[in-house]
Amino acid sequence: MSIADNVALIRERMHKAAQRAGRKPDEITLMAVTKTVSPDSIREAYDAGIRVFGENRVQEFAGKASELRDLPDAEWHMIGHLQSNKAKMAVDLFGCVESVDSVKLAQKLNDAAQQLGKKIAALIEVNVAGEEAKSGVALDSPELEALLNAAPNLPALRFSGLMAIPPFSDNPETSRPHFRQLRKLFDKIAGLSYANVDMRILSMGMSHDFEIAIEEGATCIRVGTAIFGERKPLRGTV
Ligand SMILES: *Cc1c(COP(=O)(O)O)cnc(C)c1O
Repeated sequence: MSIADNVALIRERMHKAAQRAGRKPDEITLMAVTKTVSPDSIREAYDAGIRVFGENRVQEFAGKASELRDLPDAEWHMIGHLQSNKAKMAVDLFGCVESVDSVKLAQKLNDAAQQLGKKIAALIEVNVAGEEAKSGVALDSPELEALLNAAPNLPALRFSGLMAIPPFSDNPETSRPHFRQLRKLFDKIAGLSYANVDMRILSMGMSHDFEIAIEEGATCIRVGTAIFGERKPLRGTV
């Protein structure tokens, strides 16, 4: 199976999941997650129609970005944990950071964006299952509240939605209650009309559980393995 075949198959499955949920397939974006993936393979996904790409490490993408400059309408999203000392590099490379989980990081991103004369999108990462080892703010936490209240003072960021990575399980149904909770939070925040917060993107669902995420309201699914195959660990970065 080529990358184009995989993309076509995923789009078909997305379509069916959307239909089951009474949703329009074109309101759901397929993001290709390209950590450990070569620029040539990224280009293949682009040729198959993908326009949104997700990377986990600033440094890794910095090494690949120069080979991909000729794809002007591609959108690059940072989806991995971001240390605030890499904020400036991240703002330079990405149009959206999906892993904003503290006011401190948001401030660093805002300052960097202002310095570079850019405006970028920011999603708040939510640790939906309260996992110790995962980043993200807890559901309905003071940290989440603080971020939402800080948004109007961070004019170089557009707070555009939420992102989450539920615990992995062989049974994708395990993700459903977490997706449902994130969706509820998304709707609640949208209903409270915070300044500079526009809940448009609900980023949830990966290779093993994206159909369930779509049934539960995802507007963006992040798919790596099902497009590019199993990842080989990059030497020195694991
Ligand atoms: C790696 C990764 C994905 C994609 O995972 P697959 O199982 O390969 O589809 C999605 N989101 C994040 C944050 C990731 O790190």
